[in-house]
Amino acid sequence: MELSPYTVAMQARRVLFLLFVGALFSSLPGLCSDLALIHAKVYPSPAETPIENGTILMRNGRIVEVGPTGKVKVPRDATLIDCKGMAVTAGFWNSHVHILIAALLHSEKISGDELTAQLQEIFTRWGFTTVFDIASIQRNSMLIRRRIESGEVKGPRILTVGEPFWVKGGTPVYVKDFLETNHVSIPEVESAAQATERVRQQVRDGADGIKIFVDSIEENGILTMPVDLAKAIVSEAHRAGKPVFAHVSTTRGIEVALESGVDILAHTTPFDDAWSPSLVGRLAAAHMALTPTLTLWDIEAKKQHAPSNEIEKGMAKADQQLQSFSQAGGQILFGTDVGYIYQFDTSEEFMWMSRGGMSFQRILASLTTNPTARFGYSSHSGRIAKGMDADLVVLDGDPGKDITAFSKIHEVVRGGHSIYSAP
Ligand SMILES: [Zn+2]
Repeated sequence: MELSPYTVAMQARRVLFLLFVGALFSSLPGLCSDLALIHAKVYPSPAETPIENGTILMRNGRIVEVGPTGKVKVPRDATLIDCKGMAVTAGFWNSHVHILIAALLHSEKISGDELTAQLQEIFTRWGFTTVFDIASIQRNSMLIRRRIESGEVKGPRILTVGEPFWVKGGTPVYVKDFLETNHVSIPEVESAAQATERVRQQVRDGADGIKIFVDSIEENGILTMPVDLAKAIVSEAHRAGKPVFAHVSTTRGIEVALESGVDILAHTTPFDDAWSPSLVGRLAAAHMALTPTLTLWDIEAKKQHAPSNEIEKGMAKADQQLQSFSQAGGQILFGTDVGYIYQFDTSEEFMWMSRGGMSFQRILASLTTNPTARFGYSSHSGRIAKGMDADLVVLDGDPGKDITAFSKIHEVVRGGHSIYSAP
């Protein structure tokens, strides 16, 4: 059969098209091949024995195999990252952050590359593949989340509570100027009815939790939320299946949090009394979790020019609170209050946690399995195992031997793609 000039032209075009597609895909290895971390010391979870020389194979955003190097069959076209001398854990969670840094506000005006760079500096380069934002401007946080999930911006999974709830006259003294300077506002609660309506609205708008200021620090003292108001907000959040975080500064505030059914204490309280065995017993029995935020106290005390012996006393009290809560079986979630503080480096927090009596296993749990269990993600996140999310951190060192290795980040993988590589 003779080919018409038309058919010949069509075939030539098809060949050209296939060549074009082939060239496109071969230039994007991450898109069509698997990713494998090889020769790593793998910590599958806090409870499991590490694999000394392990390989983790990832495909389509999931871990498909993990085991000793040599036993895991890695496809020839897979992208390899050699992790000799390094350790790998599941991606970290920071369960107390704020998307309130000036550079992240008004994110609609920030280019994708700039946003990626900002998120990298604050979160990603410290190993966080998930962050729980516990007070911000919800519309802005949701916008950043959507840009990350669409693939336009590289960043962590963002969970958010949106705008926090504080009583009338209870806008904390330390955020007033910030809100004004940045032309954003967060309303004060007028009544229980208005507050519960706002809880419903924020949940409808995609909030993953609710944050209340049980204690608000004001110029002339601390304003504590009435128990009835706290109860109304907490029960509305629980009706929607959402956890409630509470800012507390005092033992009295902790009592309000307990009575109203709060789920997570957002701080230790070193400026008030030590935590008694009976208090931590009740907190543990109520299944309360805690983000210790120890670095914050050091920073705040230095800001006030406190003498070093006073700083040491405050830190010792925070240590006591963390230690007694942890020993009573309370659940610790790693959290730094970054976004309120501008110290992004996490090494100091690991040092304080370790000084507060937390073992390597407990600190790893606070970064991975505790938050995934607390927030309902443990079926697919928080451990290195077949079928789990391919969210991983490669550490330059072994945190089982040196706790500060938790802040020496070599590579961060989210959904099977690298979102940060150390320069
Ligand atoms: Zn905070």
